Formats: sequence, C-alpha cells, structure tokens
Amino acid sequence: MNVVKPLKSADDLVMAGLVAPADRRALEEVAARYAIALTPDMTRLIDRADPDDPIARQFVPDAAELTILPEERADPIGDHAHSPVEGIVHRYPDRVLLKAVHVCPVYCRFCFRREMVGPQGLGTLDAAAMQAAFDYIRGHEEIWEVILTGGDPLVLSPRRLRDIMEALADIAHVKIVRFHTRVPVVDPDKVDAALVDALKASGKTVYVALHANHVRELTAEARAACARLIDAGIAMVSQSVLLKGVNDDPDVLAALMKAFVEIRVKPYYLHHPDLAPGTGHFRLTIEEGQRIVSQLRGRISGLCQPTYILDIPGGYGKTVVSGSTVQARGDGCYSVSDYRGDEHSYPPAE
Ligand code: SF4
Repeated sequence: MNVVKPLKSADDLVMAGLVAPADRRALEEVAARYAIALTPDMTRLIDRADPDDPIARQFVPDAAELTILPEERADPIGDHAHSPVEGIVHRYPDRVLLKAVHVCPVYCRFCFRREMVGPQGLGTLDAAAMQAAFDYIRGHEEIWEVILTGGDPLVLSPRRLRDIMEALADIAHVKIVRFHTRVPVVDPDKVDAALVDALKASGKTVYVALHANHVRELTAEARAACARLIDAGIAMVSQSVLLKGVNDDPDVLAALMKAFVEIRVKPYYLHHPDLAPGTGHFRLTIEEGQRIVSQLRGRISGLCQPTYILDIPGGYGKTVVSGSTVQARGDGCYSVSDYRGDEHSYPPAE
C-alpha cells in the first residue's frame, strides 16, 4: 500500500483498512482522550494479514484503552512532583529532563505520558518558558546532563534544535545532552544533515536514546538514519518497553537487542510498562518480566543485555528490577526500593 500521509484519526484508520468500520465509534471515543498518529513508515510496516501484528499493536488504538484500572494514574512516573519550572523535571541531583515539546510523530498506545502529549497536550514551550528553563539549568551547577524528552524532541526543526543546543553550549557545567526519540525509526528521513548538524551545535557530548520495541522497526531506512547520527560522532543507546503482545518473548527480545548492537546502538533500558491510564492490556506481572529477562542471560552476548527497570509510581525514580530491589509481598503487591533505599508499594499487573 502506498501511504504518503500520517494517519491521525479513527476515520483515517478505517480508510487505510487498519480497523473495521464497526470499531470506528469506540475508537473515536479513544481518540477523544488520547492522540492518534502513525507515520507512513510505520503504516507501511504493519502486516495486515497478521491480527497480532506487533507494530499495529503499538500504534493502532484499541477499545481496551477505555478501561481504566484503579491503580492507573494520569502522571504515572510523577513528573509533576519534581517540576520546579515549566518544562523541567529535576528528579535526580545530576540531571534534568527538558520537555520542550509535547507532540510526537507517532502516539504509542502504551505511552506513560499519554495524558500530556498530543495536539491537545501541554504544547511546546514558548520563548519565555524556554528561557526560564535555561535559567534554571544555569542556576544549578550540579546539573551535569540535560535530557530532552517530551513528546519527541526530534520533531522540532533543525533551527529550533540548534537554538536549544547553542543555549546549552553556554552552560559550562552541562557536559552531556541526551535526546529520547523515536524519530530515527518512525520517520527516518527526518534525520538529515541539517538535523545532525543541529544536534552537534553545542560542542557537548550528545547521546541519542532510541525507542524501539520490536526488531521489525529497525528497517533499512531506520538503520541508515542511526548510522548518520553515529558516523557524525553521536553516541546511541536504546530504550524499549516490555509489552504484552509485542515483545514479551525471550526470542523476540533477543532479536531486538542483537539488532541494536549490530547497528551500534548499545542496549540500555528495558522498561517495565508504567501504570498509564488504559494500558492494562499491555502490562505483564513483574514475575513474568523477570522470567523473560532472565532467559536473555547466557543466550545473547553481554553487549546485548539491557537493564530491566521500573519507574516507581509517584516520582521516586527508577529502580533496577532485581531480587534485592523488588520483592513480592503476601498481599499480591510488591515492595520496591528506590535509589535512596526507601520502600514503596507496587500493585500487581491485574
Ligand atoms: S514517542 Fe514517547 S512520548 Fe511520544 S507517544 Fe511514544 S512513548 Fe509517548
């Protein structure tokens, strides 16, 4: 199928043959709450003959998203609790998130910030808010790393990205700038010489953390986009989410992690899915996750091993999912310890 435009509504999905007309009404209800977008690259990648296609499952909305479970939260990882100024999240001493933009080229159905992103989301920081964010970073000498996330920061034009990088260039204590993005996979042509030059404009060390969850996302075009970044001196790491029906299988995960290493993207984070509203159909239990991840050990090279992590609800930060940090309790919940050693309760998957 020759797809040239992004799909952004239930009608678009019906027209593209990705959902049945009978499902349109339910999906309009989903769309009223959570943004929809598929890029042409992702639409082309969907295997319409496979009812369980892992690409479709990530991006095509589902009526199951209308089921909100009691443990789910609008702000599952607690960004708001650590936001001193608009667009900044300062959760750990040495680094901040800078959320310059709240739109994405695709909207992942399991997104942890689904209540904040999208055309109806928190929008793009205006010039005054950006200045306040830079002033905050400048005023906190302990900030060693700035992580641009969102939304997807690489939707910004090269000119806007260059402005951000040039502003950060003036802040001597910031040594590392990291971008979290899906763009090299979902819109690889956007990674052109102008964008690469813009990312390098600060003269700082730049990392790009690529979000991909299935090896089929790493198309020839996506691999070439990553190569353009890496060949320009930008380091790349991966982040994936462990998702029921997408990659909850050791063979599928192993293929993804090996492909990352083959294209010089070091596997970094494998996230346990967050408690985002309407995403219960993607979540597995921590025990299931540990069983899958344990089956990667020995099966694939140490280079290919990601760190399996859980973002503790409420803004307490990430913890590695291991026997010493995450323990089952008698009541069906888990006890999870944060990086300070404090204990928190985590609910079961279902
Ligand atoms: S690209 Fe990231 S921020 Fe955007 S919808 Fe997907 S997970 Fe959420």
